Amino acid sequence: MKPFRIGEYEVWSVIEREGPLRPPAVMFPTSDPERAAELLAIMPATVWSPTTGILYNTYQSFVLRSPRRTIVIDTCVGDNKARPPHFNYPKKSWLDGFSTNRLNLDGVDLVINTHLHVDHCGWNTRLVNARWVPTFAKARYFMVGPEYDYWRDQTAQGFELPGRIWTDSALPLVTTGRAELVPVDAQITQDISLLPTPGHTPGHVCVLLRSQGEQAIFVGDLMHHPVQCWEPDWSSCFCVDPARAAATRRRFFEEYADTNAVIVPEHFPYPTAGRIKTHGRAFSWEFI
Ligand SMILES: [Zn+2]
Repeated sequence: MKPFRIGEYEVWSVIEREGPLRPPAVMFPTSDPERAAELLAIMPATVWSPTTGILYNTYQSFVLRSPRRTIVIDTCVGDNKARPPHFNYPKKSWLDGFSTNRLNLDGVDLVINTHLHVDHCGWNTRLVNARWVPTFAKARYFMVGPEYDYWRDQTAQGFELPGRIWTDSALPLVTTGRAELVPVDAQITQDISLLPTPGHTPGHVCVLLRSQGEQAIFVGDLMHHPVQCWEPDWSSCFCVDPARAAATRRRFFEEYADTNAVIVPEHFPYPTAGRIKTHGRAFSWEFI
């Protein structure tokens, strides 16, 4: 992501993977192929491949640093976890991003998960001597209670992949008292609060950062690609409740379009952050 400032906070990202991932018809099962082609034709080649038609998709963690604290939002896929093969790409670049002179893992004070999908909570923990321990050794972690409970129940019902994610990346932090389970609209600090945005997952939240009259909203998987501004009803193939996700997205767009809010979706490629504008009866996206 292209770094930016919100009030007294510097904001940047640490990337785990980037590049082409899925065609529109797979990513958005209800999308219309002709409409998708028409929209992509007006978009820069940084968000899709004009030769293959495949959408670009970045996995990144956001770092927010003020003079008082350092916060990480979402923790990508992680390492040494029993995941499907396509998640087993090299993870060194993410670790290297946290070992620069501006940052180190032990310097992080707070970690917030927008939701508990595989690509948003993996580095919550890492494997040390056959145990899952906090990757950010000195941080307080914040997860949303209803989200945690949903994946706990899925695990109890035998859903294998979410079960493993919950078991290795959420449960160990809660049982050791390192994670707080908070309400969907929790105030985390004076500057940071949660905004419930259910649909993609039942307890999905956005993270609002407000400082000195400016605001940024880290929207997790509320949206996966800029085409969804023009077509808010296109929910991703990963949405637990696609209709609810679409309604939530439209409501969010209506509230934040044409405001000063900088919108930060985890999966948008460089420069990642942008603003939502009204565009006829739908919306458009402008990178900052
Ligand atoms: Zn995601």
